[in-house]
Amino acid sequence: MRYISTRGQAPALSFEEVVLTGMASDGGLYVPETLPSFTHDALADMAGLSYADIAFRVMKPFVNGEIDDTTFHQLVTEAYATFSHDAVVPLKQLDANHFLMEQFHGPTLAFKDVALQLLGRLLDHFLKKRGERAVIMGATSGDTGSAAIEGCRHCDNLDIFILHPHNRVSEVQRRQMTSVLADNVFNVAIEGNFDDAQAMVKASFANQDFLNGTRLVAVNSINWARIMAQMVYYVAAGVALGAPHREVSFCVPSANFGNVFAGYMAYKMGLPVKQFIIATNANDILHRTLAANDFSRHELAATLAPSMDIVVSSNFERLLFDAYDRDGAAVASLLERFQHEPTALADAPLAKLRKKFASYSVDDEAILETIREAYRRTGEVLDPHTATGYHAAERARADAATPVITLATAHPAKFAEAVAKAGFSGVPLPAHMDDLLEREERYTVLPAELDAVQRFVAENRRD
Ligand SMILES: *Cc1c(COP(=O)(O)O)cnc(C)c1O
Repeated sequence: MRYISTRGQAPALSFEEVVLTGMASDGGLYVPETLPSFTHDALADMAGLSYADIAFRVMKPFVNGEIDDTTFHQLVTEAYATFSHDAVVPLKQLDANHFLMEQFHGPTLAFKDVALQLLGRLLDHFLKKRGERAVIMGATSGDTGSAAIEGCRHCDNLDIFILHPHNRVSEVQRRQMTSVLADNVFNVAIEGNFDDAQAMVKASFANQDFLNGTRLVAVNSINWARIMAQMVYYVAAGVALGAPHREVSFCVPSANFGNVFAGYMAYKMGLPVKQFIIATNANDILHRTLAANDFSRHELAATLAPSMDIVVSSNFERLLFDAYDRDGAAVASLLERFQHEPTALADAPLAKLRKKFASYSVDDEAILETIREAYRRTGEVLDPHTATGYHAAERARADAATPVITLATAHPAKFAEAVAKAGFSGVPLPAHMDDLLEREERYTVLPAELDAVQRFVAENRRD
């Protein structure tokens, strides 16, 4: 299997190359050239398997023999052994036909662990094989940074530098990053805002001279391996609720569209899915595009579900590529227009998307009301991101007979302030993290100056 760019102008890559590469050289994102498909029997045979075994079966065709089966199975097993629940991503039944998929049992209590626990191990595997080292740089306002650090802390051939805005991330989120004291983990608190941090990371990718030839790797959600790892829990949940014999629907709290796109891939491979519901917060570009064909940027709004605060959904490009019948030139021209002005999708691709996707936007007031409503009806305290999903699922589902699975993307203790605003204070951290607020921290404060940051990276990375 080869991987091709959504804009049609970059060279096709192998799996190894696509794991080590972020964005394609033509500005597009990599997708598989062809998709494998699950036979009826292949799905039926997954019933009762462990999460790691399902993961191995779902991802094997994408790895394309570039890692031998024994080694790949071991990487997968190790990645998911870091989760504190045996089922890794368990389902919880809320009422007759509404389920929660708990994606918060990983090391940082949010769904990004599912992909990043595997991605760190894949990167380290390929780097060791090549006898190379690499540097990861990323900017974070919270979830991605801590999940990336946890995914890379044991990687011999990787050093990771995560920039966060000084004094502007929540205490739990900061400590999840800064209390990892591994030799290859460097937390940098930038005296500036998230955009300053992000701009310095972008500039470092654009000109990598400061690294003297060492590879710089991105672990943001455009990396194909993250999508690949996320397909697995859709298959596992579908099979647990009766696939291939029964359809399910999924409702996904969405921002960059990486999570729900992985579900769509699983559907394209043969998982019987009735409907995907995209839940957004007030940053509603996905909802505006689907509901009103208004594909345009709005200003960023700071909401109670901060991990969904985005202006542009980067992975939506992968869905557009499919909707435009894999016409890279059409995708490139649409996204070029989008950079400069409000635009709209062509009728045929939009109609195709509307057959499978519904959407709903949930503002802060509705998030708080939903946390209370869900508790009254089910006894569950939802985090604010999951609350957008619960709300959207209840209102946008196509029918009441098909089971709907809402993805619970974060643990409520991770967003304790918002949950307290809804009236639930003191939601405890899980037992394995209950000393987080006492753990030793390590981070370096630097000015928001590119030179200072790049000097810090160059001096501290290991040879
Ligand atoms: C990242 C994140 C999301 C959004 O996921 P996308 O793949 O960007 O759509 C939702 N909820 C939480 C808690 C997250 O960390």
